[in-house]
Amino acid sequence: MTITELDEQIRRCRKCRLWKDAKNAVPGEGPAHARVMLVGQNPGVEEDKAGRPFIGRAGKFLDKTLAKYGIEREELFITNIVKHVTPENRKPLPDETAACTPYLVAQMEISKPKIVILMGAVAWQTPRIENVEYLETVHPSAAMRFTKMRKRFEEDLAYLKDRL
Ligand code: URA
Repeated sequence: MTITELDEQIRRCRKCRLWKDAKNAVPGEGPAHARVMLVGQNPGVEEDKAGRPFIGRAGKFLDKTLAKYGIEREELFITNIVKHVTPENRKPLPDETAACTPYLVAQMEISKPKIVILMGAVAWQTPRIENVEYLETVHPSAAMRFTKMRKRFEEDLAYLKDRL
């Protein structure tokens, strides 16, 4: 299967309740065989409208921080552990994460990234596959708000830059 075929499956997904109130699924974007994959929690309202990941407030902060460390967003594959928006942007429920995680595993298997950056505690639940380095960092929306978290986020992106 290709990433594009998998995107189609994700767009048609009815495995949990979240599709019902969503405008668009957000499978992810970036080069199909990017060296680095970034994983967030779930798309928000802006992402749901556009069908693209990390384009709202957290996304702008992410882009700014990537640029600060000389990393181009376009060279990364950016996705989420849950592919549909949640009501009031609440945390995905365990059954929603469980239903959606196989798509992320398939994306990792097809894309074969060298490094996967897991942003936030929900993304940390991502199953690990062999021959991939995983880095757990904080979510950009937490990094945006709290100085200590921002420091950790920046340190982790500086490390990533060295590994690119
Ligand atoms: N927060 C996420 O975790 N993912 C997005 O795509 C946008 C905001």
